[in-house]
Amino acid sequence: MERTDTTGAGMPARLAGAALWLSSAAAWAGDAAFADCLSGLRGQAAASGVSAAAFDRFTAGLQPQMEVLQLLDAQPEFRTPIWDYLAVLVDAQRIADGQAKLREHADTLARVAAQYGVDAETVVAVWGVESDYGTTFGKRPLLQSLATLSCRGRRQAYFRGELFATLALLQSGDLQADGLLGSWAGAFGHTQFMPSTYRDIAVDFDGDGRRDLVGSVPDALASTANYLARNGWRPSEGWGYEVKLPAGFDAADAGRKNKRPVADWSSRGVTRADGTPLPASDAAAGLLLPAGVAGPAFLVFRNFDAIYSYNAAESYALAIALLSDRLRGAGPLLGAWPTDDPGLDRAARKHLQILLLARGHDIGEVDGAIGPLSRRAIVVEQQRLGLQPADGRAGHRILDALVREGPPVALPR
Ligand code: CA
Repeated sequence: MERTDTTGAGMPARLAGAALWLSSAAAWAGDAAFADCLSGLRGQAAASGVSAAAFDRFTAGLQPQMEVLQLLDAQPEFRTPIWDYLAVLVDAQRIADGQAKLREHADTLARVAAQYGVDAETVVAVWGVESDYGTTFGKRPLLQSLATLSCRGRRQAYFRGELFATLALLQSGDLQADGLLGSWAGAFGHTQFMPSTYRDIAVDFDGDGRRDLVGSVPDALASTANYLARNGWRPSEGWGYEVKLPAGFDAADAGRKNKRPVADWSSRGVTRADGTPLPASDAAAGLLLPAGVAGPAFLVFRNFDAIYSYNAAESYALAIALLSDRLRGAGPLLGAWPTDDPGLDRAARKHLQILLLARGHDIGEVDGAIGPLSRRAIVVEQQRLGLQPADGRAGHRILDALVREGPPVALPR
């Protein structure tokens, strides 16, 4: 699935080139060009099965959204270390919430597993990483974002396809237009599908005749399983497991795509993470080294690729895979990430934000999402405390330093 947005997972999206862009946006905003562009799309939409009446009804009153154009061209401010991704996406809260969802939706998940061959923990882990179990759908009006990106910017043809797919879903009654929100790039609902993926993959699993991935958890869970099944999921195979490399291991053959028989990895001295031999298997596995040979290592099988296809990032796929293991009752990784400043989970990030607020920093809401305001405040505190590098990263070192410093701060309830 196309996935260029990470706000649903609380990751920073940072803007670049804003000044250059503003000059052209000012000339465009509020003028007739947007309306002209939209009306020009009516004919193209018809080719996607969207009637003129539906097109007019659902695009009436849409306004261009300047911010999404900034986000389209945004460059990440810095690379997020894998241990920071995982600290947030596989934290105690998400594990506990996922276990509650497994219980709450046990009957539906059993039927989903029977029909699509994808186990409950994997489906729930995708749900947890994509939308925090339906709590973060995105905050931008979906039609306005897609209409804007269809008329301006560097990927208009792609976004027009997504706009037309959305309109077709509204026309068919699968979706309701009221309050339809998504990421700036158009991912939305429990599963954060792009509209064209929704059109092609979504299923009606609660039997009400509508494929509703915003309002129906059964539809969303079954559609997630359908996605994985269509992308090569193999029932009763795992995604992979953590392994341990021998000293002096040559990592030249590492990589998700470079699949070799498990026996081949065994012959090179790779073992399970606890040091026991790899299980006998004729399956082919790639060696994933998210942080190089000094960090945790994983053998990943075909099902990891199915998870990867969900949003085309190995870090996210690993988060989903590891969350699914935790939901099955597994413990944390045995290998350590190569850092002396581990990442913070969402509870610890909130704690850090409270300590920043208490020192007078305007960081906005205490939400556990470390955005530009929080990072700027962290830089100031890192510099004040002489911590290097003063990079604005929310890690344990700055949190521990502020906690040690006191004074005690009352936590808002
Ligand atoms: Ca339904």
